[in-house]
Amino acid sequence: MGNRLVIAGGGPAGMMAGLLFARAGVETLVIEKHGDFLRDFRGDTVHPSTIELFDELGLAEALLLREHDVVTDIFASVGGRSYRVADLTHLPVRHKFMMMMPQWHFLDFVRDAAARWPAFSLRMDSEVVDLVLDGGRIGGVVLKDGERIAADLVIGADGRGSVLRDAAGLARRDLGAPIDIFWFRVPKPRTRHNDTMGRFTPGTVIAMIDRGDYWQCAFVFAKGGADRIRAGGLDDFRKRVALAVPEIAASLDAIRSWDDVKLLSVSLDRLTRWHRPGFLAIGDAAHAMSPVGGVGINLAIQDAVAAANILAGPLARGEAVDRLLAQVQARRLFPVRVVQGMQRVVHARVLGPTLSANAQMKAPFALRMLDRFPILQRIPARIVGLGVRREHIRSPAAIRK
Ligand SMILES: Cc1cc2nc3c(=O)[nH]c(=O)nc-3n(C[C@H](O)[C@H](O)[C@H](O)COP(=O)(O)OP(=O)(O)OC[C@H]3O[C@@H](n4cnc5c(N)ncnc54)[C@H](O)[C@@H]3O)c2cc1C
Repeated sequence: MGNRLVIAGGGPAGMMAGLLFARAGVETLVIEKHGDFLRDFRGDTVHPSTIELFDELGLAEALLLREHDVVTDIFASVGGRSYRVADLTHLPVRHKFMMMMPQWHFLDFVRDAAARWPAFSLRMDSEVVDLVLDGGRIGGVVLKDGERIAADLVIGADGRGSVLRDAAGLARRDLGAPIDIFWFRVPKPRTRHNDTMGRFTPGTVIAMIDRGDYWQCAFVFAKGGADRIRAGGLDDFRKRVALAVPEIAASLDAIRSWDDVKLLSVSLDRLTRWHRPGFLAIGDAAHAMSPVGGVGINLAIQDAVAAANILAGPLARGEAVDRLLAQVQARRLFPVRVVQGMQRVVHARVLGPTLSANAQMKAPFALRMLDRFPILQRIPARIVGLGVRREHIRSPAAIRK
């Protein structure tokens, strides 16, 4: 008899892992604390490398049929001038673009794909609160209502506030994220193109995700500054936004109270060890990512693919996998280090100086170079679009009865 896998968390990492392990024939239960995937605190990016993975699974056409926007270039606007930062059209993959798709639609798609495998099950509205310790190894999870579910392996994919990594006693290295975010919506007319972009003006950074008839805005500010901004009053806040993005000034009445402005705390950290016998952390639970660059979803999905490549076959055959868990960390640590290193550089060299600037700023040197030599735009395109150490589907597919 095969082994039983429990995955805590139905975000990109958990759902993708759920699909791949169930596809390999491993009895897989994904447990998600919310009743739906309808949360808007993540980005909307489906990266070219993710589309490629779905291509390898024979699912890309179906994914592309779901409503989405296509983005081939990424822009940043500094001091009122727009710069093209990344050109995805030269990527060495079949689909040379990023899909912009609200993440709940993407996760619905992954759930539907996973549900076709009989080994897959999903429990929504169920919160994992602890791990079961069984003779020195993790032997299952405990739910909020006290129910215990036994497992041969538990994967913690419960995001950047992971309770499971703490319950597993895994040490965390805080890399410091000097920013937090106010997250709010502003209505807009629909446009033919997806106009997602970052705005950098003295003292203010705003990322704007184009979701058709509204902007999902991320107002970036120095960590810990939320109360000070709130104390300044909503009018002042609207004025700051309007100064940075004058074209949405007339729509800012849509922010009626501070209830419409959610505080998102940003973290950047990683576990020194992602596993212990019976337990593995992946995605943000193993390495919380900053929103900078919009790459955390890609890393989370690539972690799930690597975990399945290494563990799904042996688990499906009923073999013990504890000794293999370190291989997942060894495979994924390098890309995580590289990307987190870049995020730290952007925090320190771009966001910090912009947020503390009070006079007209010059675009950073790197941005001016990218603008002057468009061929260089292929480098950020590769990092954002494909990531570092791209994974491919190598996990087996069970025969469907
Ligand atoms: C404001 C913001 C914007 C971002 N924008 C982008 C972007 O545009 N592109 C990009 O690539 N990345 C972006 N990121 C980073 C990205 O959101 C994360 O790196 C990515 O979501 C990690 O995926 P995950 O599956 O590991 O974790 P999560 O997406 O956090 O998913 C974890 C899941 O586990 C569930 N869960 C949590 N605790 C429990 C529990 N105890 N029991 C059961 N379920 C539980 C949660 O409800 C959630 O569904 C952004 C981050 C922030 C903060």
